[in-house]
Amino acid sequence: MAEATKKDIRQLSVEQIGEYFESIGEKKFRAKQVDEWLWKKSAKDFDQMTNLSLSTREQLKKDFVINHIAVDDMQRSNDGTIKNAVKLFDGMTVESVLIPTDKRITACISSQVGCSLDCHFCATARLKRMRNLNPDEIYDQVVAIKEQGDQFFGRPLTNIVFMGMGEPLLNYNNVIAAIDKITGDKGLGMSAKRITLSTVGIPKMIKKMADDGVKFNLAISLHSAIDEKRSQFMPINQSSPLDDLADALKHWYNITKRKVTYEYVVWKGLNDKKEDVEALVKFCKIIPSKVNLIEYNPIDDGEFQQAAPEAIGLYVKVLEENDISVTVRRSRGKDIDAACGQLANKSEATN
Ligand code: SAH
Repeated sequence: MAEATKKDIRQLSVEQIGEYFESIGEKKFRAKQVDEWLWKKSAKDFDQMTNLSLSTREQLKKDFVINHIAVDDMQRSNDGTIKNAVKLFDGMTVESVLIPTDKRITACISSQVGCSLDCHFCATARLKRMRNLNPDEIYDQVVAIKEQGDQFFGRPLTNIVFMGMGEPLLNYNNVIAAIDKITGDKGLGMSAKRITLSTVGIPKMIKKMADDGVKFNLAISLHSAIDEKRSQFMPINQSSPLDDLADALKHWYNITKRKVTYEYVVWKGLNDKKEDVEALVKFCKIIPSKVNLIEYNPIDDGEFQQAAPEAIGLYVKVLEENDISVTVRRSRGKDIDAACGQLANKSEATN
């Protein structure tokens, strides 16, 4: 079979690999061994599968490929953050980031090549959405960062955030399949509680996630709790306004009983007034929640500028007065364009 027409074996379930083995007169249980090599041991080629006979390995090579990401370029920030340009099997590139803190090693990973949403403050939004990532491409980003954690910090990966490129809820099935592998004992065995999916907030998908019984955490990129303003920054709000989001979040909380996190950037002159804070407080009372105030990472000299410290101070004060937990997040990896919203394959564009 020509290389280009061979199927990626990681698109097959263990049952399907079992059926394949039966069809070539091989023992079905071998599928379990192959599955373990493919996921738990992250084998990049069939030759590594030493508990299979040479002839079985040769047959597998004839029939399948193992598509694997390759970290093409790795940049290290002064603060220890690592940004990876991740090359996919078809030559496309996404970015992933390792964020080290005293207690954690966090992997920030991508779910799509580019993004179809048009959040005006985000660099990824300027890239056309090219395609969804496959489950193995999402999984491999995590494995690569886990290895970097061992290699550069001598510490295990503790957390995963879907805050890289793309909108995870527009690639729902593949994101869920990847998380199943990341959390499953046949994969990385990580706790779902250590995973956070960040979304612009697509109401029907938030409801679906709750109904599907997912165990990971949910973060919503809110940025304003006033419809007219949010619609300006984030066009998705025009078709999915805050009332619909609130409905979905109530459904989420009723089923999961888990707090949601609101990610929020305060911009000068745009959402830095008392009325903005009050609207946020009101929104936060809909279901138990907490707020992460994120530092703005400029993507150009345009309309968005980080608000004055006094405005951030006002948010913190009023939220705390209302017993809403709030954290002010420092930006990481800014010097290498690895911070939130800066992922845009710049290294590729300038090469
Ligand atoms: N599509 C998803 C995940 C990718 S964005 C989402 O929207 O949540 C990850 C986070 O970075 C989001 O909270 C987003 O609002 C934030 N972000 C985007 N651009 C930013 C910027 N320039 N500065 C700071 N945060 C930004």
